[in-house]
Amino acid sequence: MGKHTVVVIPGDGIGPEVVGAAQEVLDAAGVEIEWQTHDAGLAAMETRGTPLPAEVLEAIRRTRVALKGPVATPVGGGYSSVSVGLRRGLGLYASLRPVRSIPGLAGRFGEVDLVVVRENTEGLYSGVEVRIDDSAAEAVKHVTRKASLAIAEFAFEHARHMGGKAVTTVHKANILKLTDGLFLECAREVAAGYPEIEHRERIVDALCLDLVTDPGRHEILLCPNLYGDIVSDLAAGLVGGLGVVPSVNIGRGIALFEAVHGSAPDVEGQGIANPTAMILASAMMLAHLGEDDAATRIERATLEVYRQGEDLTPDVGGTGDTRRMTQAVISRL
Ligand code: NAD
Repeated sequence: MGKHTVVVIPGDGIGPEVVGAAQEVLDAAGVEIEWQTHDAGLAAMETRGTPLPAEVLEAIRRTRVALKGPVATPVGGGYSSVSVGLRRGLGLYASLRPVRSIPGLAGRFGEVDLVVVRENTEGLYSGVEVRIDDSAAEAVKHVTRKASLAIAEFAFEHARHMGGKAVTTVHKANILKLTDGLFLECAREVAAGYPEIEHRERIVDALCLDLVTDPGRHEILLCPNLYGDIVSDLAAGLVGGLGVVPSVNIGRGIALFEAVHGSAPDVEGQGIANPTAMILASAMMLAHLGEDDAATRIERATLEVYRQGEDLTPDVGGTGDTRRMTQAVISRL
């Protein structure tokens, strides 16, 4: 295959550490990539006065593929989320997060093999909030038929493609009758076009209970934005934590790969960040670029490091560090 061009956003906190590790692994796998590096988040805020300069979006529109490190978002005031800005600006309407048990990683929850499909552009993440007065504030939960149909279509298509048997729509339509009600109505409409795939419906709180008591019960979870965000962190906890789960944000012809985790300021600069999520995200990116062989080799090498268990980072019970774990993956390629 020829050389690929990919936008890379190192991000904040542990971002540069884990993105650097993933780049080293891709390089060692022999895939030729021309990286176009762009700052976003705190780094861009300091040098450019904006957390998401317009040229970052323009660059990704050109390359169609990006690898993104986590980006910090201040709680409360400050600037709005770069991740939300990228998803909106690039029309990345679907987020897909495969959550799989890693053999060798002691899990309390047994075998887990789930995919969280999250609506990425609307719901409670509309960004429309009003402080009414000193004592009250409101947020707008915006749900459209168009976005709900698109994400349901994406989930059922993914199920068909993967030979999946069931899609579970996650909602709270008993309380949020109009907004989650519309999301559920659209899921039912789309499900009718996929008679071979069972459509289940689960209220989000009951679904969370299912996930910790019987995680094998669901396969593909179709979630509105907020529930997808929360459920994917919960699911990550079932397989070893945030350090091991990759994700992709998908739009029409554009894909942005990242880890589920954030910038982890509590471990920044200590050299102990787990690079697994970012390495697996970059393997997903290679598969997307048609480099299936290299993608499979990276995945296998990473799992092998867990099986052997000597070079793992502290978050997954090891005594190793980012460098050792990255080198261990590279030496097994
Ligand atoms: P976080 O995911 O950064 O950290 C949660 C906990 O998990 C921390 O204890 C952290 O040390 C640990 N952790 C996460 N990833 C790890 C890794 N690879 N290796 C070892 N330990 C890891 O979540 P948070 O603390 O709530 O958020 C921190 C910042 O990240 C916030 O500014 C938030 O807005 C941002 N964030 C960004 C993204 C993104 O860019 N996609 C996603 C989530 C959070």
